[in-house]
Amino acid sequence: METKLEKIVSLAKRRGFVFPGSEIYGGLAGTWDYGPLGAELAHNIKDLWWNHFVRAHKDMYGLASSVLMPEKVWEASGHLEGFSDPLGEGQRFNLMFKTEIGAVQQEKNAAYLRPEIAQGMFVNFKNVLDTMRPALPFGIAQIGKAFRNEIAPRDFLFRVREFDLMEFEYFVREAEWEKYFEFWRKEMWAWIEEVGIDKNKTHELEVPEGDRAHYSKRTIDFEFEYPFGKKELYGLAYRGDYDLKRHMEHSGVDLRYADLASGGKFIPHVIEPTFGLGRTILAVLLSAYAEDELGGEKRVLLKLNPKVAPVKVAVFPLVSNKENLVAKAKEIYKNLRVAGGWKLGAAIAFDDIGNIGKRYRRQDEIGTPWCATIDYQTLEDNTVTIRDRDTGKQIRHPVEGLDKYFEGMLG
Ligand code: ATP
Repeated sequence: METKLEKIVSLAKRRGFVFPGSEIYGGLAGTWDYGPLGAELAHNIKDLWWNHFVRAHKDMYGLASSVLMPEKVWEASGHLEGFSDPLGEGQRFNLMFKTEIGAVQQEKNAAYLRPEIAQGMFVNFKNVLDTMRPALPFGIAQIGKAFRNEIAPRDFLFRVREFDLMEFEYFVREAEWEKYFEFWRKEMWAWIEEVGIDKNKTHELEVPEGDRAHYSKRTIDFEFEYPFGKKELYGLAYRGDYDLKRHMEHSGVDLRYADLASGGKFIPHVIEPTFGLGRTILAVLLSAYAEDELGGEKRVLLKLNPKVAPVKVAVFPLVSNKENLVAKAKEIYKNLRVAGGWKLGAAIAFDDIGNIGKRYRRQDEIGTPWCATIDYQTLEDNTVTIRDRDTGKQIRHPVEGLDKYFEGMLG
């Protein structure tokens, strides 16, 4: 018997969501590549996150900082000293990937692939202050790659060596940290629901003092019930003023915030919600995966939120050997792609291979929320059937206004 995780790994490979990294050379442990459908899913999740946490908040500023950062950054952040896992025999192994800049191998040329994206926000704090002139509280957000030389990568997308993070640093006055910690905690739950992660399988863990970073007065891990155990999905940490203070000491640059109200200068405190993209995708797939019976036939389906589904609408002719039906279906497909614009249009598929039942199954398995079928009635009254993925229920809708209908359904 295949486990649920095995079923998802095999579906992901078979349908073009996720491939093992560098597979034709035997694979590279701890790397996975997103295929055509997985890349769409990942883009959709990143877009949804950016809309939810950045564009929806007027006090949030976007950033895209470099993966390569010099040794000094990691001295200041504490990663050079402390970002390690225990090996045997009392040794510790630093999880950062080290590299050299330029042709001459010298210690002063040492650089590291960032093991987290937060430091990009801290080293650009002054740049954002100077260019955007934000008032506290405000946040700096980014989505980007992080690299960790994990000793034992495992459990599909859960523990890998190269992954995307979606994260922001929210800068506040010290006296207000608890208020904003609560605010973002609620927003994280709203996100979990929106992206389609099963709330009942997600739990908060108050990280006890001994397990928290020494500078953090409070950390909550959001844990998800994966098939291999209840483990971290996201984190929410109060980091105090630790990072900006360290960078101010190490760089010699004044990173204080000038408060117009009091005329004073101080280092803001920070709330940090962090979201791993790979773990999000894994939790979304695990939450969406279902097996049921429809019309007496067993099927596998992904109950994805339509907003993140890689294909939103599949257009079919009822049969593939009637030229007028196929031509009409192709015309509707083409018009929908154009009318749907970049948001909907690119996420429309056409399929006339095999019988209609098989085509429905294929779309159910990749989470396509709607199938539009062109049948004989279409030729008479210019309406199509729209079938709902989860219920299998069908309605008829005029061809005219189909794009608006689907846009409305997407919300
Ligand atoms: P863990 O204890 O599982 O190693 P962590 O406490 O080191 O995680 P953070 O440093 O808080 O994790 O990293 C932020 C987020 O990055 C995590 O909440 C998780 O979503 C993601 N993440 C961390 N390490 C990995 C990894 N090796 N592979 C995939 N995602 C990861």
